[in-house]
Amino acid sequence: MSRTPPRRTALRGLAAAGTAVIGFDPFTRSWAVTASDRPLHGIPELDGTLHTDEASLSAAADDFGHIVHRRPAAVLRPGSVADVVAMVRFCNKHGIPVAPRGQGHGTNGQAQAEGGLVIETAPLAAVQPVGPGSKTVTVGAGAKWSDVAKASLAHGLTPPVFTDYLELSVGGTLSVGGLGGQTHRHGAQVDNVLELEVVTGAGELLRCSPDRHRDLFHAVLAGLGQCAVIVGATVRLVRAPVTVRHYLLPYDDLRTFLDDQRLLVLEQRFSYVEGQITADASGAFREYVLEAVAYGPPAGEAPDDTALLRGLRHNPSGAEITDLAYYEFLDRLAPGVAALKEAGLWAYAHPWLNLLLPGGRTADVAGGILDALTPDDLGPGGVVLLYPLVRDRLRTPLLRMPDDPVPYLFAVLRTTPPDDAATVERLLAANRSAYDRVRAAGGTRYPVGSVPFDGADWRRHFGPAWPQLAAARKTYDPRGILVPGQGIF
Ligand SMILES: Cc1cc2nc3c(=O)[nH]c(=O)nc-3n(C[C@H](O)[C@H](O)[C@H](O)COP(=O)(O)OP(=O)(O)OC[C@H]3O[C@@H](n4cnc5c(N)ncnc54)[C@H](O)[C@@H]3O)c2cc1C
Repeated sequence: MSRTPPRRTALRGLAAAGTAVIGFDPFTRSWAVTASDRPLHGIPELDGTLHTDEASLSAAADDFGHIVHRRPAAVLRPGSVADVVAMVRFCNKHGIPVAPRGQGHGTNGQAQAEGGLVIETAPLAAVQPVGPGSKTVTVGAGAKWSDVAKASLAHGLTPPVFTDYLELSVGGTLSVGGLGGQTHRHGAQVDNVLELEVVTGAGELLRCSPDRHRDLFHAVLAGLGQCAVIVGATVRLVRAPVTVRHYLLPYDDLRTFLDDQRLLVLEQRFSYVEGQITADASGAFREYVLEAVAYGPPAGEAPDDTALLRGLRHNPSGAEITDLAYYEFLDRLAPGVAALKEAGLWAYAHPWLNLLLPGGRTADVAGGILDALTPDDLGPGGVVLLYPLVRDRLRTPLLRMPDDPVPYLFAVLRTTPPDDAATVERLLAANRSAYDRVRAAGGTRYPVGSVPFDGADWRRHFGPAWPQLAAARKTYDPRGILVPGQGIF
């Protein structure tokens, strides 16, 4: 039988790793190296599969941002955790960059690895059995939060904190933090992890927790993939409500809106608090909607509108109050996402701006950024979020927070046609100047979006946590192969 010689994948230079890979040959199962064109034999036998076809490589060179495109040499669909260990060891030995990819919902190439190996974690999605009295659930890193919610809800249980969108991987959100409307009560998703199973950059499979390899545990949670690939996580469970009452409360003044949000999270009156800002008919971003949710039994008491809304200064005639099944509430973005996909807007570029502001400066800093924002610069289907967190619930060292008891998450979730490179560039520059303004006011960024950032920016970003991250990187990923797309090391 004759076979066509495989086309060698053309790859550009690698900055992060010591050895520049120029191609992977799927038939001889070897990588060729720029310096000597010496093939690297010995790709391990795998339970899963290694892919070098056009479709797999192009998919791994794209993400939800549709802005950055770095092509890997190969994509691993692991059949087991052992595959991750074997391939990370191989890549470590040869200095080949590696990036785990969950659902690819980063917006700036964070899960890409030019000339390297992308490990799709989706096959590692097992959710261990949950029983009625379980206090935790152990899940594969590739599981989506929707899978985890469904498995635990079958027993009346739930993880305490969710991102707004459920179709993100557990490994992906634990690498960044995982913030949502429940964070003011329970911290971020990373604050609700009891143990992790990880493969370090040196290819060692380890369990880590606050009591075991503590340095690694704290370097992996919100650690942007720099020290290890998460393959499994044990997450806290709490009792789930059967139904929730969902409130949308309109405001016409930014300071009143912020003050009421702050009051609600300090009093912990609701189980969930967020907020959105939209443009009025003139295009000015000054329509504010406070979104709050009260959990019903058995997680909370039957919602009492009078008590819950006491003293709030919203416009009562515009309030919308709805009872929803708990999962329907968690999955509330699903119909909107389906509509965005239908309209082709999911495939637009997403130069997202995600910031964390000190509460005391939120009105003036967010207000200033909103004053300059136009509907065109937000784009069709774009969203502005502004909601408070409670600082003392956020305990993960690498999830950097402003020094303020009630910081605010401020997100300008932009969409713009992906082929209009000039507009994308302009919006990225606008993101950077917004970040500079926020940093000068004592804020920081939530590193999921697209803010042009260099190594010095990252060192400043991590601040007092930098030595810990740098030391863990040296220990656990000594050749520096993991997750070059973050641009940290
Ligand atoms: C529509 C939408 C809604 C969102 N809503 C929220 C929200 O409400 N709250 C919030 O906090 N965030 C939100 N995000 C941001 C989201 O949490 C992050 O972008 C997250 O990293 C995406 O998860 P993912 O599985 O797609 O990760 P990917 O994009 O695949 O990966 C993100 C980064 O994590 C690394 N990584 C992935 N898996 C692993 C692993 N197993 N081990 C180590 N590193 C890994 C990757 O290499 C990459 O650097 C949202 C994003 C989108 C697109």
